[in-house]
Amino acid sequence: MNKDLAVALDLGATNLRAAIVTKKGKILKSAKTKTPKTKSSKIITNTIIVLINYLLEEINKKRIKGIGIGSIGPIDFKKGEIINTSNLPTKKIKLKESLKNYFPFPIKIFNDCTAAVWGEKHFGAGKKVQNLFYITMSSGIGGGAIVNNHLLIGHTRNAAEIGHLIVDTKYNIMCSCKKGRGHWEAMCSGNNLPKFFKLWLERKGINKKYEIQQAKDIFMLADKKDKNVLNFLKEVGQINGHGFSNIIIAYNPELITIGGALALNNKKYIIPYLKKNIDHFIKLPEIKTTPLKEDVVLLGAAALVFYPIN
Ligand SMILES: [Zn+2]
Repeated sequence: MNKDLAVALDLGATNLRAAIVTKKGKILKSAKTKTPKTKSSKIITNTIIVLINYLLEEINKKRIKGIGIGSIGPIDFKKGEIINTSNLPTKKIKLKESLKNYFPFPIKIFNDCTAAVWGEKHFGAGKKVQNLFYITMSSGIGGGAIVNNHLLIGHTRNAAEIGHLIVDTKYNIMCSCKKGRGHWEAMCSGNNLPKFFKLWLERKGINKKYEIQQAKDIFMLADKKDKNVLNFLKEVGQINGHGFSNIIIAYNPELITIGGALALNNKKYIIPYLKKNIDHFIKLPEIKTTPLKEDVVLLGAAALVFYPIN
């Protein structure tokens, strides 16, 4: 029987999504749940197993070519484990070992943004593009690169972890990865934007009280035209601009697509602000949000199964 279907999994810091995807990138069936905020690897892998079993109901297993996973990193590819991720309480998720015991299909695991850029290339805006970069701006910030039609993987398969590029030396914020200060993700990711806003207010000597729990509270105030928030978002735009400038210089892409809930839900406060702050050292690429929207990692995970990279 023709193996024309893939099980795709998007393991994010906030959401866990899974789908059955066809070779043409069509999602036949999907399911979503919150990623358990737990230190237990087993609770997370069991949640994934339940999700996949649900999707496989009424599907002829002989049609399944494999399981593709786009996951938060960093990843130990030899063991197929997620290790020391900065956005979940667990130290280690034994992904491949757990799934191998349950499912008879080949399993491909890549960093979520590496998967996403592969999905963009095969199913999205990058079909005709040879030099493509994908950026997610979500709970964290990450990237994936295709250079001269080759997917960039890197020595430990963790290339383009751009959330940990140094983009600032003024605020000196320690990153949640605990490996350095001024990392892009430490300032502009969904998880860290509220913390940066608090520090920004302090540094500016602004005493106005704000009840900010999550990044979305900041954007709600922007909609209400709060002057401080709008000025803060301008500075966020400068820092995002540093990140984009570094990427353009390093990878020379012809197209950058942007995904991730933070960017997709707050486009008008993120994209024009950062575009204003990109250095024009070399020809600027086209920059736009991904047409694959919140499915970009899922479709990328499916692309890993149908168009394998070793
Ligand atoms: Zn970092």
